[in-house]
Amino acid sequence: MDFSSHTFDAIVVGTGPGGASASRELARAGLRVLILEQGGAAPLAGTLAQMASMAARPGSGAFVHRDASLLVGGTTLGGSTAVNFATAAPPPAAMFAAHGIDLEPSLAALRAELPLAPLPDSLVGPMAARIAQAARALGLDWRKLDKMIRPQACRSGCWRCAYGCPFGAKWSARDLVEEARGHGAVLAPHTRVLRVLMEGGRARGVEALHEGRLLALRAPLVVLAGGGIGSPRILHASNLGPRHAPFFSDPVVAVMGSVADIDGGAEVPMAAGLHLPEQGIALADLTLPRPMYQAFALQVGRVDRLLAHRRTLSIMVKIRDEIGGGVGPRWADKRLTAGDRARLEEGKAIARRILAQAGARQVFATHHFAAHPGGSVRIGAGVDADLRAAPGLYVCDASVIPGPWGLPPTLTLLCLGKRLGGHLAGASNQ
Ligand SMILES: Cc1cc2nc3c(=O)[nH]c(=O)nc-3n(C[C@H](O)[C@H](O)[C@H](O)COP(=O)(O)OP(=O)(O)OC[C@H]3O[C@@H](n4cnc5c(N)ncnc54)[C@H](O)[C@@H]3O)c2cc1C
Repeated sequence: MDFSSHTFDAIVVGTGPGGASASRELARAGLRVLILEQGGAAPLAGTLAQMASMAARPGSGAFVHRDASLLVGGTTLGGSTAVNFATAAPPPAAMFAAHGIDLEPSLAALRAELPLAPLPDSLVGPMAARIAQAARALGLDWRKLDKMIRPQACRSGCWRCAYGCPFGAKWSARDLVEEARGHGAVLAPHTRVLRVLMEGGRARGVEALHEGRLLALRAPLVVLAGGGIGSPRILHASNLGPRHAPFFSDPVVAVMGSVADIDGGAEVPMAAGLHLPEQGIALADLTLPRPMYQAFALQVGRVDRLLAHRRTLSIMVKIRDEIGGGVGPRWADKRLTAGDRARLEEGKAIARRILAQAGARQVFATHHFAAHPGGSVRIGAGVDADLRAAPGLYVCDASVIPGPWGLPPTLTLLCLGKRLGGHLAGASNQ
């Protein structure tokens, strides 16, 4: 279909959890919705090559900061959920209540429809089990985490979550886009939005590039859901946001050590973990596919560990970092503050204790990396509590998170999308 010649009630830019959730609500309410996504929509194959094409696109999906740390995200249908680790955490109610936002009704509805539960023991891999046993032996409150995985379709001994699950076991935002399409929404992949078209002080559509053509696409409602990097860039290009938008990214290091008596390396990552909200630190098992493990070992010069993947236990240490750095028009850069470094050191020390308890040797830590850019168009600063940036223009993705974070964002963004979609559909039907 030539979407450029059709009339729409709403345009949604980006298909991560925020955009997919809002699109589904709008389409379900009968609005004619156009969904624009700069990435492709090829079915997930679960291969390294496809993952790299979705999550290692310099300038949109992968950024090397000046301190050599890496920030990654998905540039594809479903956004980062195509390649993420499927861990779910409920929205922090107090953070949103401070802005008069109650996400509980959306959360209750989503809980009733989404796969959202800890993995059954049969799907917890030997490495995750060994780490959990060691952590609990130390008296740590190491608990199974909620996963957005359909256990009946999931396989033990599989490592493909992070490559894009080809078995339909891992939930991704693609599911909601598909539902939106079932309600008549039109999806246009490979379409990059350059700016919002503003006329008379309100949004009237977007300017986008599709197959080398510059298009002016019109609708009275525009929802930007390009993610923590994408949305502030579009706002800036539209003269509606700053050139450099500070952000958080929830930096992570993996602490790794080898044991002699496990032959594994292929399991669902983040089956269980420990959350220390006061300290802003979270830990979890994080068995990565072999090429990713080897890249991290190589990055810190541990050539001696390159062949030890099947015996290496890996623990993720993630922190709630301070908002800083900047998302620029073509780059994003952020360095750790002294407080961030102290949090990472504290988390690494706990991980080292767990690995020692598990009998691991040759322990090393990776350089930090990050996968949760957000907070760059915060509620209360860049948008109001209705996620409105300007008349007719809304933002619904990780960029609106109002403060430092340190949690798995997906479920919160689904709630925000559901709330926004319902609100906009209600207003347009009046
Ligand atoms: C490796 C990895 C593991 C993760 N693990 C977890 C986890 O276990 N649990 C969890 O909750 N979260 C996890 N996350 C993070 C989570 O997936 C993201 O925080 C979440 O997907 C962000 O959602 P979003 O709505 O902000 O949009 P995103 O998912 O960032 O998607 C934005 C979409 O908009 C598109 N876009 C951007 N700009 C434009 C433009 N100009 N025009 C058109 N399209 C555009 C992008 O291509 C992208 O598809 C992980 C992320 C990664 C990378």
